[in-house]
Amino acid sequence: MTVHLALQKMALGDALTGIQNRHALKLFFESIKDNQENLHTLVIDIDHFKSINDQFGHETGDKILIEMTELLKSRVDSKDIYRLGGEEFLVILEEAPDNEALSLAESLRRTVEQSTFAHEETDINITVSIGVSKFQYGQAFNEFLRLADKNLYRAKNAGRNQVCSG
Ligand code: GH3
Ligand code: MG
Ligand code: MG
Repeated sequence: MTVHLALQKMALGDALTGIQNRHALKLFFESIKDNQENLHTLVIDIDHFKSINDQFGHETGDKILIEMTELLKSRVDSKDIYRLGGEEFLVILEEAPDNEALSLAESLRRTVEQSTFAHEETDINITVSIGVSKFQYGQAFNEFLRLADKNLYRAKNAGRNQVCSG
């Protein structure tokens, strides 16, 4: 790998999980064409992650983030997965109608609920809240993230471990 490529990988990748970071998402966003009519995003946030860290320690928390990444990678191409920061992930579905985006979100939610994490140390059950949004061409990056977040917070307010779309 050239120095240039190595630096680019560091700048666009997330050090803990190896998936793409928010900068990479912004670059993807800037490359979206106006003929992409069925572009959905899933914003996936682990519920009560602070208390998981408090209870089991930060290292175990990190392990859960890595395992969550693996779970997402088992279902979605890794080029479509981003870590927005903390315990928040974003999945891009470029060619998915509304019902397909929703059913993937629901299936991911259920899979997380039924999985155990940090197996070698202790079995931890977690849940995620997911906001599903449809991208409207012309939206500014920040505006798009704000709307996507809004659906996530509807899922949080509705009691967590839920999928909300809008
Ligand atoms: P909610 O259900 O509302 O999402 O609650 P929450 O506790 O998940 O959310 P909050 O934003 O209050 O806390 C997020 C926590 O995520 C706090 C922080 O310690 C933890 N966190 C953020 N980044 C990392 C990380 O890289 N590793 C670990 N282990 N913890 C992290
Ligand atoms: Mg959270
Ligand atoms: Mg969060």
